Amino acid sequence: MITFEDLKKVLLTDYADENINIIIKAFHFASEAHRGQKRRTGEDYIYHSIATAHTLAKMKMDVPTIAAGLLHDVPEDTDFTLEDVKNVFGKEIAGLVKGITKLSTLKYRGLERYAENLRKMFLAMSKDLRVIIIKLADRLHNMQTLEGVRPEKRLRIAQETLEIFAPIANRLGMFEIKTKLEDLAFIYVYPDEYNWVKNLVQDRLKTETKYIEKIKKIAQRDLAKHNVSYIQIRGRIKSLYSLYHKLLRKGKDLNKVYDLIALRIIVPDVTDCYSVLGIIHKRWTPLKGRVKDYIAQPKPNGYRSLHTSVFTEFGKIAEIQIRSQEMNEEAEFGIAAHSRYKDLKNIGNKKNAPIWVKHLLDIQKTITDNVEFIKHIKNDLFLNSIFVFTPKGDVIELPENATPLDFAYHIHTDIGSQCVGAKVNDQMVSLDAQLKSGDVVDIITDKNRKTPNPDWLKIVITSMARDKIKSKLRK
Ligand code: MN
Repeated sequence: MITFEDLKKVLLTDYADENINIIIKAFHFASEAHRGQKRRTGEDYIYHSIATAHTLAKMKMDVPTIAAGLLHDVPEDTDFTLEDVKNVFGKEIAGLVKGITKLSTLKYRGLERYAENLRKMFLAMSKDLRVIIIKLADRLHNMQTLEGVRPEKRLRIAQETLEIFAPIANRLGMFEIKTKLEDLAFIYVYPDEYNWVKNLVQDRLKTETKYIEKIKKIAQRDLAKHNVSYIQIRGRIKSLYSLYHKLLRKGKDLNKVYDLIALRIIVPDVTDCYSVLGIIHKRWTPLKGRVKDYIAQPKPNGYRSLHTSVFTEFGKIAEIQIRSQEMNEEAEFGIAAHSRYKDLKNIGNKKNAPIWVKHLLDIQKTITDNVEFIKHIKNDLFLNSIFVFTPKGDVIELPENATPLDFAYHIHTDIGSQCVGAKVNDQMVSLDAQLKSGDVVDIITDKNRKTPNPDWLKIVITSMARDKIKSKLRK
């Protein structure tokens, strides 16, 4: 159980130069409002509010967001109204609480409920991304206390978590919360598979943990010897849910999974990262081709870190990840890591909004049929992204398995319709080629071409391209 003292501890260290009085006030207000209420687990209700706010503070969200985290269930579950919250805490915090309250009223069942839920999420996202982040923190604690809920409802909540909340966290780059949500939901949605993976990995995990501890001690000693300071060294165990998926890809053979545990070294700044890499490579020989400098060349999603795999004296290979504190926070908290410095409000209306948010909003507006809507969303939200370049060097985000035609239609409808060929990295490719991250894509057009080829409908994978082709063909 997380107490207000725990929350205060985080605030006093990470928010030392900010005025946190409003958070303390929100705590007292929420305690008063929820007085006498219990959660299904038997805990006082306020501990749910505190846990939500604590998650937000750990992600370093801004002060109004943490206050709203404490207040998020007040209008819904107590005698106090949104108006009361507004009178005491002002417009910004009340606006966030209102966003959360709107998200939690869902009348429908089954597919309709699913569609409605998604629509509400995207609408909220377009108004203020912080609402979704509070919702994710709220959902995390609900998942952590799910055993108190009756079985039928439990399954529904866990499914929703896996189908809606985890993918959204993933899209926002919030990998820590995504991983936690997935593993918590995994137990309830796929209990047999969960137990299978858990049992399969148990023994290996024991030996690997001992092994990585040895590696850790040696690394610690070496760093101390070279006077390189570090913030943390720890073994990172692959989450069960992602391990499950990896196993499915590897023919259920655990021996083919090499990154069950990696050693993660977190240091104060960028220079330290390279010093540590040097020290590690002096101790252990790196595997050829496995040293990856994602600091000099970040992954398209912004991920930065140094990765290396080394041969150790124990006759085994170890994966080692080295990054600064700042890089670590970005990797774990994603978009939330910037919330105190970047404006997360109105992100859907701004130029710098993620393309997928804008695109989902378009879908939201244009597709009223729920079955169609879900089909589109599944397509665009749940596929992973690749990032390719125009010949001028602009970055274009597309779903995995996208083709040059998807790229062409993404740039402009006319470029798509007039497309007669494509070059990827200066090589001619067929229009159904699969693009990969980092590809430079050049579309060859013919101005005399007016209508797209109907066969293209079988090639494109984005709903945007499909819709544009269809509408052109209708004309
Ligand atoms: Mn709640």
